[in-house]
Amino acid sequence: MNMNIAVAGTGYVGLVAGVCFAEVGHQVMCVDIDKEKVEVMKAGISPIYEDGLEELMQKNNAEGRIDYTTDYQKAYREADAIFIGVGTPERSDGSADLTYIATVARQIAESVVKDCLVVVKSTVPVGTNDKVEQFIQDFLVNDVKVEVASNPEFLAQGTAVYDTLHAKRIIIGSESTWAEDRLMEIYQPFHLPIVSVNRRSAEMIKYASNDFLALKISYMNDIANLCELVGADIQDVAEGMSYDERIGAKFLNAGIGYGGSCFPKDTKALDYIAKQNGYALDTVKAAIDVNKKQRIMLFTKASKRLITLNGLKVAVLGLTFKPGTDDLREAPSLDNVPLLLEQGADIYAYDPVGASNFAKVYPEGKNGNGRITYVDQAAEALEDANVCFIFTEWGEIKAIEPDTYKRLMRTPLIYDGRNIYKVQDMERAGAEYHSIGRQAVMRKEVKEISEHELQTH
Ligand code: NAD
Repeated sequence: MNMNIAVAGTGYVGLVAGVCFAEVGHQVMCVDIDKEKVEVMKAGISPIYEDGLEELMQKNNAEGRIDYTTDYQKAYREADAIFIGVGTPERSDGSADLTYIATVARQIAESVVKDCLVVVKSTVPVGTNDKVEQFIQDFLVNDVKVEVASNPEFLAQGTAVYDTLHAKRIIIGSESTWAEDRLMEIYQPFHLPIVSVNRRSAEMIKYASNDFLALKISYMNDIANLCELVGADIQDVAEGMSYDERIGAKFLNAGIGYGGSCFPKDTKALDYIAKQNGYALDTVKAAIDVNKKQRIMLFTKASKRLITLNGLKVAVLGLTFKPGTDDLREAPSLDNVPLLLEQGADIYAYDPVGASNFAKVYPEGKNGNGRITYVDQAAEALEDANVCFIFTEWGEIKAIEPDTYKRLMRTPLIYDGRNIYKVQDMERAGAEYHSIGRQAVMRKEVKEISEHELQTH
């Protein structure tokens, strides 16, 4: 049966969920506090970059199954279900900030006039759903039934729409058959596997899954660093490991560490929950520690290799935390660019979609000791550059031929944080190539950039 669904928060999770609910036939009202965003969405424009999202928005906007508003009372009043997809950012102590969740819970309590299921999609610490339910009861204005269920989200940015429509599983965490049945009914048209558990287990499934993936990445990065020291190649090692089904072939890529809006905060939040409960979650702590070092691994390597970065033209290829998204949250570029600027680098940055967001943090022109210029083509960044850092494996960046670095750069010295190229291909092209977990290709003639060259640059 089609239901009246309200979605609180139109970020990566809320908007994609709302649009996909509309796509399978539900009547959806998306709520956000950001007026500008609401106007943009009403016009059929997606405020975020996600493959296929805008097309689905336009289709469902036109067919009248979805609308957008800042008027939460109107949206929540008669909803059969209200999904909460607002942010739960990291606090300075590592714990999750639940302020936005609490605001929505209170707004719901003051608005609903009929029985309603509230579904928490945001990633929240174990026990939060209990508190949200209590909070709503405390502030409830009308005599109606409101229950809370957990439905954590597993989409990955860049493939969010596909991941929602083809999710590997839907997790339902509920404390009554009424809540369970209503949520099952909402998801019935998706025809996806459903795992139904209690609320606390559902909340834990989300953290346990994300932190396991973060741990897998940090483990491979740790092994990669050892590979460099002992003469092994992490990509060969990963391939050899991948045939073991107990290990699996995914998430074995070494690189400059995990970023994005989830892994960094969710590892810290679970570590915090463990500490609060008097338990030391050593595995997750190790993932966090390895990642911290890994994110500046390339800069550390370059600092050892070069006398200085002061006055050098530095090409930065890729700014977003991964390809397919304009999201910069916890992107490794945000750790490295300030270090490069502090050293006085003259940065030319290229990213197919993330440059304008990055420019909000580091405006074009002089920045501290250095400068930053945003360019529309990777070739412009590489032209006459002394050093190149690759932070994101966008298709446009992977398509650059090894020879291009040699041809365009003043000194083809490359630090690749995503292991895009085969070491042999870079060697053949005559570039000096440093990557993660593999042996570096050195070029004697560019070993040191002379003072003379620095002055004439
Ligand atoms: P986001 O920051 O992109 O979006 C949050 C939205 O909520 C913003 O548009 C904001 O304006 C809006 N908002 C804030 N207060 C509001 C209120 N009172 N009423 C209505 N709207 C309000 O967040 P996100 O990346 O979509 O993440 C949301 C949650 O989902 C987080 O808990 C996150 O950990 C989790 N999650 C995110 C992803 C991901 O890939 N981004 C994946 C799985 C889970």
